[in-house]
Parts: sequence; C-alpha cells; structure tokens
Amino acid sequence: MFDYLIVGAGFAGSVLAERLANGSGKKVLICDKRPHIAGNAYDYYNDDGILIHKYGPHIFHTNSADVFEYLGRFTEWREYQHRVLASVDGMLVPIPINLDTINKLYGLNLNAHEVQDFFDKVREKRETLRTSEDVVLNAVGKELYEKFFKNYTRKQWGLDPSELDASVTARVPTRTNRDDRYFTDIFQAMPKHGYTRMFEKMLDSPNIKIMLNCDYREIVKEIDFREMVYTGPVDSFFNHCYGKLPYRSLEFKHETHDTEVFQSAPVVNYPNDQAYTRITEFKYLTGQTHKKTGVVYEYPQAEGDPYYPIPRQENATIYAKYKALADIQTNVHFVGRLATYKYYNMDQIVAQALTQYGKIAGMKRKEAGTLKAKTASPMVYQNGNGNGNGNKSLTALS
Ligand code: FAD
Ligand code: UDP
Repeated sequence: MFDYLIVGAGFAGSVLAERLANGSGKKVLICDKRPHIAGNAYDYYNDDGILIHKYGPHIFHTNSADVFEYLGRFTEWREYQHRVLASVDGMLVPIPINLDTINKLYGLNLNAHEVQDFFDKVREKRETLRTSEDVVLNAVGKELYEKFFKNYTRKQWGLDPSELDASVTARVPTRTNRDDRYFTDIFQAMPKHGYTRMFEKMLDSPNIKIMLNCDYREIVKEIDFREMVYTGPVDSFFNHCYGKLPYRSLEFKHETHDTEVFQSAPVVNYPNDQAYTRITEFKYLTGQTHKKTGVVYEYPQAEGDPYYPIPRQENATIYAKYKALADIQTNVHFVGRLATYKYYNMDQIVAQALTQYGKIAGMKRKEAGTLKAKTASPMVYQNGNGNGNGNKSLTALS
C-alpha cells in the first residue's frame, strides 16, 4: 500500500516525492513513462563522454532563495551566467538586444543615453501590451522586431507573435546598457554534477520506489494508493473530454564535433535563415573540459512530445475547463508545467511543488521546504560578481 502514486519524475513529481517521503514520512511510488528520472531536465554522458541535456539546454536561474536553498540540499552548484548571441544580418550580436547589439548592427557608437533616444525614435508605442507583437514593437519598433522576433516566434510556436500572449516575448527584455546576460536573476547556477545526479539524490529515500518505462495507466488499477500527484498533460488525464490542449513540440538533433569549441557562445539563436531556432554547445553550460564538444539543434514541431504549453486566450479558455474538473478531484493533485498548462521555468515548478506540498501537509511554503530538512549545502553570498553589475554572486562551499 502506497500513500501516494506520483505520475512523472520531473521537477514537479520529484520535489513532491522527496517532500512527502522525507518531510511527512509517506510511502511514495513515482512512475515515469520515460526510461529515466529528471523529466525534461534529464542529462547524461553521451558515447563520447560529454555531458549533454537530452531535451535541450536547461539553465537554472531564480530569484527565490527558498527554491535555491531547497535544491542546494541535493547538489553543489557551479556558478554560471548564461549568454546568447543571435545570428542577424550575417553578424553574431547579443540577445537580449542591448547597447552593443545596436552599435554592432548599425555600425554606431552610441552610449546608453543615446541608445535610449534611438529606441524612443524607432519604437511603436502601445497603450496596452496584449500580444507578443505589441511587447516588441512597443520596445524596439518594427525593424528590430522583424530581425530578431517575428520569424523566430513564428518558427518556435507556429503562430505569429500577434497571436500569442504578451508574456511570451516579454521573457526577453531590452537593455540600454552592455549587460549581455540572458537572465538577471539573483541566483544563476548549474548543478555541479548535472541534473540527473541531483534528482538521484532527491529520490534516494527508503520511502520512495521508482518505476520507469511505466505509463501510470498500466498500473493505476493494480496498485493500492491513497492519493495521486499527476504531472503529465492535464487534457490527457481527462481523456481529452474538452478537446486537445495544444502543446508545442521540438525535435532535438544532437551532434558531437571533433573540435574543442564549436561556436563562440553557449547558445546561438537563428531567427531567420534556418529551420532550427538555436544551437546550444553544452560544455559552456556544464563547465566540462573535453577535446570534443556536444551541440544540439532545436527544430520546432506541432506533433511529438509536449514541451511547451502555448500561451494564448483560446487555450486558456480550454484549460479553464480542465482546471475546473481537476479542482473537484478529491484525491488527485495536479502539479507541473503540463498538468497546470503554464509556461513555467524549473524554479517556478519547484516553487509550485513546494506550495502544493505545503497545502497537502497543512503548512506554509517556507516551512514546506524546510521540514525535516537534510543537511543544506552551506552557501556564502558575496555582493558583486566582478562584472560591476551589482548582482549577488554565490559560492557553494560543500
Ligand atoms: P516534466 O519535466 O515534463 O516532467 C513530467 C514527466 O511526466 C515527464 O518525465 C513525462 O515522461 C512524465 N509523464 C507524462 N505523462 C505520463 C504518464 N501518463 N505516465 C507516466 N509518466 C508520465 N526551464 C528553466 O528554468 N531553464 C531553462 O533553461 C529551460 N530550458 C528549457 C528548454 C526546453 C527545450 C524545454 C522544453 C523546457 C525548458 N525549461 C527550462 C522548462 C523546464 O523543462 C520545465 O520547467 C520543467 O522541466 C517542468 O518540470 P515538470 O515536472 O512540470 O515537467
Ligand atoms: N524570442 C525571439 N527571438 C529570440 C529569442 C526569443 O523571438 O532570439 C521569443 C520567442 O517567441 C521565444 C520567446 O521569445 O519563444 C521566449 O524566449 P526564451 O529564450 O525564453 O524561450 P525558451 O528558452 O523557453 O524556449
């Protein structure tokens, strides 16, 4: 007899398994239809011994000290600030668009004030930012929108930016300074020995049993359990009774190259000229030294494994119907990116799972992460990371 059957061993399922097992002493069975734990964050050493991310680049960043501290119990961290270049007009320029992007693209020598004037001249001011098109036109105007966002977004989502919620392109800011980091969160780091190792530690408990290659439908009638945590696609749980919720998929093309360095940045985005959206070179992310290098190309697809919920009103309307059904289930908890149809990053999913655990265990989220904690990795926070940008940096001591 299990207290909980958890469907899906990604962040949502694994955090809940760990908390229920170690925080509340519950007996947990966690299953995943894939042959591995860690969900989309799964990483492994390929045949050449290079640590790669099977489902595309996963870079950890958060402003939540709680979430960072919680995960820090299961991994040491390697400080890592992510940077991305975009291939535009035959040049590689920083994205998010910043002062250097504009100067390089147009052969100018503007300073931060002058580039603000430049943006003010070219932007198409919008009163309300309803769509992803509004967001970019309002910030940088039509020409930059077309160079950096229009075609990338069409390729990535199979939709025009005008058909997507503002929140999608709002993930990418516009800057007047020279900060070329992709994220500005307080905590930016990669699990030192990879995500899968971190998940192994998270799930290492006598109260947790793991079943891989196992769709929950194959066992749900055979196993005795009191409650379920479901982290798969919500529409699939209800047999698509209100129709299919659209998810965007990707095909990942992994390659190993017999050279130490393949490209000049961790990620290069290709908004316009290629069928793929971006190329990631993993050694930048993982810090591994190796005489070969591993890269992945991402080709967006309509069909295939569901990776991205698609943020737009008509999908929110369908999801609301599924959510109403989910809310009246007495013994099933819906958690995670697919089960709550939210375009969430890893840290947001960890926060969501800790909050859910708090509800189940009748406590606030802050306590939820700390009850019967294993020993936390001691961290020292230093002000300033040497870039002069005032961001806090961190040093893991363990
Ligand atoms: P998942 O990781 O999808 O886990 C759900 C699990 O449920 C899966 O393993 C699935 O096999 C299993 N499952 C589904 N149905 C069943 C079933 N019927 N029976 C059994 N098992 C089932 N976030 C960041 O913070 N930084 C990044 O850089 C980043 N990059 C990303 C890049 C890509 C290409 C993608 C697609 C996502 C990225 N994310 C990133 C988001 C991140 O992957 C998610 O936030 C996170 O993995 C969600 O965790 P989850 O547990 O909700 O879902
Ligand atoms: N985007 C774009 N051009 C870029 C980078 C991003 O048009 O060079 C848009 C695109 O719609 C993308 C969204 O901004 O889906 C969010 O980008 P992000 O890099 O956060 O996407 P993710 O890593 O989640 O795939």
